[in-house]
Amino acid sequence: MNTLGIIGGGQLGRMLALAAIPLGVRCRFLVPKDDAALLDFGLRYAQGSADDILHFTRGLTAATTEIETIDPAIFAQVMQHAPLWPTPAALDLKRDRRRERERLAALGLPQPRWAQAGTHVDLSAACAQTGFPCRVKAAGGGYDGRGQWRVKSPADLATVPAEAAPFTVEAEIDFRGEFSLLAVRGVARDGSEDVRFWTPSINVHRDGILIRAEPDIAGTVSPEEISGAERCVRVLMAALDYRGVLAVEFFRTGSGILINEFAPRVHNSGHWTIEGAITSQFENHVRAVLGLPLGDTGLRMPVITWNVLGHWPQRDALLSVPGLHVHDYGKSERAGRKIGHVTLENPTPARCGHVAGLLGLQ
Ligand code: ADP
Ligand code: MG
Repeated sequence: MNTLGIIGGGQLGRMLALAAIPLGVRCRFLVPKDDAALLDFGLRYAQGSADDILHFTRGLTAATTEIETIDPAIFAQVMQHAPLWPTPAALDLKRDRRRERERLAALGLPQPRWAQAGTHVDLSAACAQTGFPCRVKAAGGGYDGRGQWRVKSPADLATVPAEAAPFTVEAEIDFRGEFSLLAVRGVARDGSEDVRFWTPSINVHRDGILIRAEPDIAGTVSPEEISGAERCVRVLMAALDYRGVLAVEFFRTGSGILINEFAPRVHNSGHWTIEGAITSQFENHVRAVLGLPLGDTGLRMPVITWNVLGHWPQRDALLSVPGLHVHDYGKSERAGRKIGHVTLENPTPARCGHVAGLLGLQ
């Protein structure tokens, strides 16, 4: 029997386990931080003592992670006992936005004009390189739009806290839209690779937080944009000796696509694949990491996913909507926090309006 080790105790780890169990895969968790979002099932371990890691890795087929920003020493220790996918080299790039941007540049991949600033004092010179308006982003630790500031003029730099340094500064892109491309890469025992793509996901963010994602059934993303995005994903996967799901976020501009960022793991914009695809991102990530054959990434039906932020509104009404799948992460309610998502099958404008209304998103 395969045993998968999952580092992290949030919703992504939980959904990986929910996909792994029907495949007959045993799951085990290493939860480095004592976090309220911990799983209610599976095993919990304290932060990476040598004993904890030994216990976690004993007999593992492979390990993976749902979070890239933890103490790298934990990844290094796990790797001494079990294969870890994606590799720490891929995870490492996400610890610092400057390293991520440098790597994308070295690979010749399209991205917004950017500069780096080691301290707050360096910000004006960096902004002079990108122009205004721009986005100043803390190099480490930001997520869901946290740790970034919109800067329209030099005077706005006063709103950026000096202690958030170091930074990247990026030209603000006046995009037509945002999409992500999720792909999975597996490597067979004979060394041959299998890379599969899901339908691109059209994503809508509000205040830097993803609120809605859906497969691009209408063909909003052009064939040229898709082939450009697929090329970016393949280049990144090859450079990072990748196994598992990789998500790349893109801006669509009048002069082509630009990479916003990538995530070396399953991704919020692919939650619709649970109901909308023949094989979900979670199941294929598990398959790839364990070296099993990959599943079909084709569409099963039209769907739309909305994130549930802060608190659960009108839960019974949501549960009563035909074809609406409720995913409650079991996290405590807190303003702006992602505590769940819902996915609507076969959306029509009326059904979408009804669900958006229940969620308070009009
Ligand atoms: P996070 O790590 O929080 O996901 P992102 O860098 O992806 O951070 O930014 C979150 C969102 O903020 C993006 O999806 C986009 O909507 C907006 N955003 C970020 N950078 C830019 C930019 N350079 N130009 C325009 N919008 C941006
Ligand atoms: Mg993002």
